[in-house]
Amino acid sequence: MNLQKRMDTALSSCCGKTLAQASRAEIYAALMTLVKEEMRSREKITGERKLYYVSAEFLMGKLLSNNLINLGWFDEAKALLAQHGIALEEIEEEENEPSLGNGGLGRLAACFLDSIAALGLCGDGAGICYHDGLFHQRFKDHKQVEERDPWITKESWLTDTGIRFPVTLGEKQVEAVMYDVDVPGVQGGRNTLHLFDLPTVDESIIREGIDFDKTDIERNLTLFLYPDDSDDAGRLLRVYQQYFLVSCTAQLILRELEERGYAPRDLHKHVVVQINDTHPTMIIPELIRLLVAKGLTMDEAVAEVQQTCAYTNHTILAEALEKWPMAFLEKAAPAIVPVIRELDKRIRAQYPDAGVQIIDEHNVVHMAHIDIHYGFSVNGVAALHTQILQKSELKAFADLYPGKFNNKTNGITLRRWLLHCNAPLAAYIEELIGPGFRAHPMELQKLIAFENDGAVLRRLLKIKAQAKRDLAAYLEKTQGVQIAPDSIYDVQIKRLHEYKRQQMNALYAIGKILEIRAGHVPARPITMIFGAKAAPAYTIAKDIIHLILCLADLVEHDPQVAPHLRIVMVENYNVTKAGKIIPACDVSEQISLASKEASGTGNMKLMLSGAVTLGTLDGANVEIRDLVGEENIAIFGRHSDEVIALYNAGTYDPQALAKDPQIAPLVSFIVGPELMAIGDPACLNRLHHEMVTKDWFMALLDLKDYIHTKDALFARYEDSTAWAKMSLHNIAKAGYFSSDRTIAEYNRDIWKL
Ligand SMILES: *Cc1c(COP(=O)(O)O)cnc(C)c1O
Repeated sequence: MNLQKRMDTALSSCCGKTLAQASRAEIYAALMTLVKEEMRSREKITGERKLYYVSAEFLMGKLLSNNLINLGWFDEAKALLAQHGIALEEIEEEENEPSLGNGGLGRLAACFLDSIAALGLCGDGAGICYHDGLFHQRFKDHKQVEERDPWITKESWLTDTGIRFPVTLGEKQVEAVMYDVDVPGVQGGRNTLHLFDLPTVDESIIREGIDFDKTDIERNLTLFLYPDDSDDAGRLLRVYQQYFLVSCTAQLILRELEERGYAPRDLHKHVVVQINDTHPTMIIPELIRLLVAKGLTMDEAVAEVQQTCAYTNHTILAEALEKWPMAFLEKAAPAIVPVIRELDKRIRAQYPDAGVQIIDEHNVVHMAHIDIHYGFSVNGVAALHTQILQKSELKAFADLYPGKFNNKTNGITLRRWLLHCNAPLAAYIEELIGPGFRAHPMELQKLIAFENDGAVLRRLLKIKAQAKRDLAAYLEKTQGVQIAPDSIYDVQIKRLHEYKRQQMNALYAIGKILEIRAGHVPARPITMIFGAKAAPAYTIAKDIIHLILCLADLVEHDPQVAPHLRIVMVENYNVTKAGKIIPACDVSEQISLASKEASGTGNMKLMLSGAVTLGTLDGANVEIRDLVGEENIAIFGRHSDEVIALYNAGTYDPQALAKDPQIAPLVSFIVGPELMAIGDPACLNRLHHEMVTKDWFMALLDLKDYIHTKDALFARYEDSTAWAKMSLHNIAKAGYFSSDRTIAEYNRDIWKL
């Protein structure tokens, strides 16, 4: 391959220019077109069995560099551009990041597609082509403002396949369009992400911000991921979206089955469907319906689908387990209602327990229950999470079907989260242990041999220091904030949710402000970096963002505090921003209330770049601790069994804790005169009230332990050799969290491709 020549040809045909004359946008377009052509020319990965990974979210991130890496073009492209004085990163800036995902679950789907292709497995993704994704976050008056986030341009990674599917939405028949995005495997071949869209969708109906007529389904269906579900119209729209996704996917599956020359009654031999959380659950009744239409009996169709579908659970938060009133399904997806009633009837006849029924006494349909009864596998996403599912949340089901439950600890693709986002570290690792870790991430363990090598530890510190300067420059350029590269970078980046406890971190910041004012300054300045979007209708989450932004303002303008503490909230946290922040992180905040975070994957990305985790024994943190050992992680807080017992007993009393002499001043500060003068008193009062009366995720319970453990960890930073050694251990043990390992396990235990 001669990239130079191909770029010259592409640029001259698109705009009559040479590489030296072309603009960044033209270079991006030409490079994207070449990469697209190259991917299209690759063989599709095929197999006797094919996986369909169905998900409402695919948080892919920008694709140019990832695709260049997987095609083996990255170094050549970089060198070619460098000859013309252009950095590949500048060209990347031309690409819009599609926000087709919300957080961890969507990013997991993207890492999985990368790993499925890398392992040469035959597996495609199926999702929705949201025109505006989630939303673009902006900060105004210390508050989150949601704006549209259009990402599709004339030239994009999407290819119209020309394939159309009829879908019956309520009373109406519509015609879906299938777009494809290729997913190249690093060893050759390609899979595909299929994204379904509705051509009648009309962006001009979007009004102020992200507001639109939620009832106009033909014009709004694929505008946004997770439309505001605080009212019935919004909830109904989600059901329409879900049915649209699964109807298209089910039709695609049966069409391809036939094209491959197999009969519908052999579905389970040639197809496996992984249902990523409950959003695509309706694929079960939809496949059954279509098989019956093809001549199978109901019994046969049910048996076939039951052996085809597998379900991944991502949450134990009761409020996040989807339930739809039957009336919504009757309205949006009437075709599958008789099937759901039949599935319910069969369970009712077999099991008397009210807790395992599909349709409850209020005529509400429990989506996860459909998946568990009518799928052949149910997996959690970290050892602790799977254990909690089996022992408490889904115990009734685990007792019925002990063989169905299994664990698949999440992972991340090292191709994006090390080779691309932290290339200098990857290059140095290769210098030390050779290139084997790229294909075999467990080889990162070879780094342990260097744990007492002063020169290696100093180099690691140097690489981190450079990444910290790079992030400082990036934040200055993009948000106009200045941070000190020699401060500790303490990072909490993840969706905003009370269970993730950003509010507890904010209380730490308040404590630090008060300490500094009292003359106890930290040994080294601290930079607290946050990145988080809050769901548009989640009031308290938005109040927490407001608190953090107010604190950032207060700190910046307090000459006594500013030299020792800075708070930065990165605007519009997404995959691109994650890629900039992660290499620079010293301390990785993974402080969810134990038992509430299913796995976390941010924790894995950050350790891979050498950050030390400050965390609770929750989700995959438990496995991180087991791998790196107590001495290379800072653990605090109540354990999951204590937390579960507290919930069961109902005795948690935040009011009493809020009176604790160490806690009271921190909590009161939220409604003290200083913050009230900066922020919106209504928001701050509401948040304060919530914290001292409900504190549903028990931030006050772990607060003192958190502050103590965090201060102790920061103190350890002053011994730079010891810190570098901890950092090295974290990198060395991160190989286990490669999504290549996770996917190999899915394949071994569930898919059997
Ligand atoms: C990895 C990732 C997440 C998940 O972060 P957690 O800390 O595991 O919740 C969310 N958003 C983006 C953009 C990510 O890259």
